[in-house]
Amino acid sequence: MTNTPLKILYLSVEVVPFAKTGGLADVAGALPKAIGALGHDIRVVMPLYGFIHREQLHGKRILKNLAVPIGKEQDKCDILEGHLGDGVPIYFVDNPRLFDRDGIYMYPDDAERFIYYARAALEMAKALRWQPDIVHCNDWHTGMVPNWLQTIYRDDPFFANTRTLFTIHNLAYQGIFGHRVLEIAGVAHHGFLAHPDLYDLNNVVDLMGRALIFADAVNTVSPRYAQEIMTPERGEGLDPILRDRAETVFGILNGIDQALWNPASDRYLSVTYDGEHLEQRQTNKQALQALSGLPSAPNAPLLAMIARLVEQKGADLLAQIAEWAVRYLDAQLIILGTGEEYYQNLFLDLAKRFPKQIAVNITFNEALAHRIYGGSDIFLMPSHFEPCGLGQMIAMRYGAVPVAHETGGLADTVHNFNPATGAGNGFTFHDYTPEAFYTAVVRAVETYRQPKQWRTLQATSMKADFSWRKSAQQYIALYQKMLEQPKGIPYQLQERMQLVQQLANSTEST
Ligand code: ADP
Repeated sequence: MTNTPLKILYLSVEVVPFAKTGGLADVAGALPKAIGALGHDIRVVMPLYGFIHREQLHGKRILKNLAVPIGKEQDKCDILEGHLGDGVPIYFVDNPRLFDRDGIYMYPDDAERFIYYARAALEMAKALRWQPDIVHCNDWHTGMVPNWLQTIYRDDPFFANTRTLFTIHNLAYQGIFGHRVLEIAGVAHHGFLAHPDLYDLNNVVDLMGRALIFADAVNTVSPRYAQEIMTPERGEGLDPILRDRAETVFGILNGIDQALWNPASDRYLSVTYDGEHLEQRQTNKQALQALSGLPSAPNAPLLAMIARLVEQKGADLLAQIAEWAVRYLDAQLIILGTGEEYYQNLFLDLAKRFPKQIAVNITFNEALAHRIYGGSDIFLMPSHFEPCGLGQMIAMRYGAVPVAHETGGLADTVHNFNPATGAGNGFTFHDYTPEAFYTAVVRAVETYRQPKQWRTLQATSMKADFSWRKSAQQYIALYQKMLEQPKGIPYQLQERMQLVQQLANSTEST
């Protein structure tokens, strides 16, 4: 393994502090800085959305009228260069037709928007003559890149030594579209894909599925989730591909930006504090109760959840136990999230029924999130499945003790507290049932009522190192390993895909 600095083009459609709906943005805003700090030349590319304040960028327009192929046409964009921080450049793809919108997702032309963005990133690298060793792609929006590098750019000397890493942040969101998307992506003549165990693959265009086939390596954001996605239960229909290429599928745990998430310097908190001054949290708790319209109750266990309100996050389990927690445990509960209307209404209804104990904020609010991490006692993560989860790590850093379902990254980061030995940093439950979740909450509340034990638990969780440094080192080791391996579809997968193609052809000819 050499220590030569690598050139990494890092693609993500959300990046803190410019655009965020969830953990992907946190990762994309922090990991590149940690990789840059280890001496590598990493550059981030994202779309220039309409809602991004242009003054915030201090951006230089470094490319004008860059021609980017889309379908049979070309559409032009400008590239602005700004700074992510710590010397890491970030490039913004400026195409008002596609990106001058109020939000990030959920537009009817999303496939075209993100395919265009990903293609623009590659064309930008060429125009800048900046030849990446690695193109690090994140989630389905970037899924065409590994496919392109093995089709339309296969003979392009510029990318001759470039490898692609595809990171799965959530396998449940695959970017599934109709066949016209292949024309938009310019690969219609390369045909459809088929796999013996995936009967649907040639009926749709699954952008994530394509990336999983063509990427030189694949990883996901925790070791446990990397194992889980190989199974039919958690593979979201793509597990046969992942099993075929199991030797090139890795799990690297996410970290958190410990400068951004730091209770000792957090400007949103009423009072900053560290592990030695946990009593200060009480002031934040009071402020949070007041802000949420809840009565000041210094000794009531204050439970909280910050999440997208969808089934994946365990919204249904929370809805089922919320009433028990406030009725039988004298707890208070604060929820911050947006998501499916069904859950939003369910929680709003609960808040109406228990106005003195339950506060619900259906909004995306960064400041309030910080105040909740810094003022709540118990942080709930009952996710049905969880690729990594950042909330539990942020909560621990702030001394809010997590209650988490034993799945994916939650299982890798939250370890059940054992009152006899003092080991553990939170409370976990195994069966995905309201009863099991509630039992874990009861254990948390009982421990909360033992102040000495609770302090120890808080102090343990605050000491954990969730910095990006270790993960950044693992990514670099993976990049280096990829560069030592030949490019292309993993051999075993290639064999299986070809087999079906032949069968399909022979069926057609009969
Ligand atoms: P996911 O990426 O699946 O949504 P993660 O736990 O990985 O879940 O990351 C969620 C991130 O988004 C955390 O930083 C969390 O604090 C933040 N977040 C989620 N919902 C909200 C909200 N409504 N307001 C502010 N921050 C939120």
